[in-house]
Amino acid sequence: MSIIELREVTKTYNGHVQALRGVDLLVEEGELLAIIGPSGSGKSTMLHMIGTLDRPTSGTVRIAGHDIAALSDRELSALRARHLGFVFQQFHLAPGVSALDNVADGLLYTGTPLRARRDRASEALERVGLGHRLDHRPNQLSGGEQQRVALARAIVGDPPLLLADEPTGNLDSASGSEVLKILRGLHEGGTTIAIITHDDEIAEWCPRRVRVRDGKVLT
Ligand code: ADP
Ligand code: ADP
Repeated sequence: MSIIELREVTKTYNGHVQALRGVDLLVEEGELLAIIGPSGSGKSTMLHMIGTLDRPTSGTVRIAGHDIAALSDRELSALRARHLGFVFQQFHLAPGVSALDNVADGLLYTGTPLRARRDRASEALERVGLGHRLDHRPNQLSGGEQQRVALARAIVGDPPLLLADEPTGNLDSASGSEVLKILRGLHEGGTTIAIITHDDEIAEWCPRRVRVRDGKVLT
C-alpha cells in the first residue's frame, strides 16, 4: 500500500488561482523524496494536500490508505495526529513556553496524559541532541536549536510520515547539516519523508526527486 496517493488532484484558490492542475503521485513507505520546482509552482500546496491541512478542489488524496474525502474534519485531525509530522521553514514554536512543553504539545490531540507527554517530549529532545535544553524558551535558543525543537515536536508521536517545507531555509549551513543528519537517521529508521527544498545538495541527497512546474508533476 502506498502511504501517499494523489490521483488527478487539483487545487484552485479563490475560484481562479490554479495552484495544482492534475497531480498524480504515489509514494511507498520508507521513501525519502525531495519536492523541487520554482517558486509558485505548487509545492507547498501539494504538501498541504498530502498533510491533509486542506482539501483538494477535485481528485483523490489517500494517506495511509484513508481517502480523506470520506473523513470529517475531526477524523482528519485524528489521522494527522496518528500518521503525520510537520516541519516548516519558520519554526512556529510557542514563544513563552519551554522547549519541553513545545514538544509535549505535539501530543495534545492524541489523548496522552500530560505526564506521559512530557516524558516523551524529553525523549524526543534527546533524539535531536537537545536533552540539555528542556527548560529553555525559543528566544533562548539559536535558530538551529529552535528548528530541532520543531523537529522534536514533529516526531514526538513517532509518525510514519514526516513532511518538511524548506526545513533548512532559515538556517546557516552548519545548523542545516544537523537538521539533515536527524532527517537521515529518521529515514534509516523507516520514516517516510517528503522535503520541499530549493537546495540542490538536499535534493541530490534524496533518493527520489519529484519536479513540480505550473501545478503539475513532471514525469
Ligand atoms: P510553491 O510552494 O511552489 O512556491 P505554492 O503552492 O505556495 O507554490 O503556490 C502555488 C500558487 O498558489 C501560487 O500562485 C500562489 O500564489 C497560490 N497560493 C498558494 N496559497 C494560496 C492561498 N492560501 N490563497 C491564494 N493563493 C494561494
Ligand atoms: P513559508 O514556507 O512560506 O515560509 P511556513 O513554512 O512557515 O511558510 O508555513 C507554510 C504553511 O503552513 C503556511 O500556510 C502556514 O499557515 C501553515 N502552517 C504552519 N505551521 C503549521 C502547523 N503547525 N499546522 C498547520 N499548518 C501550519
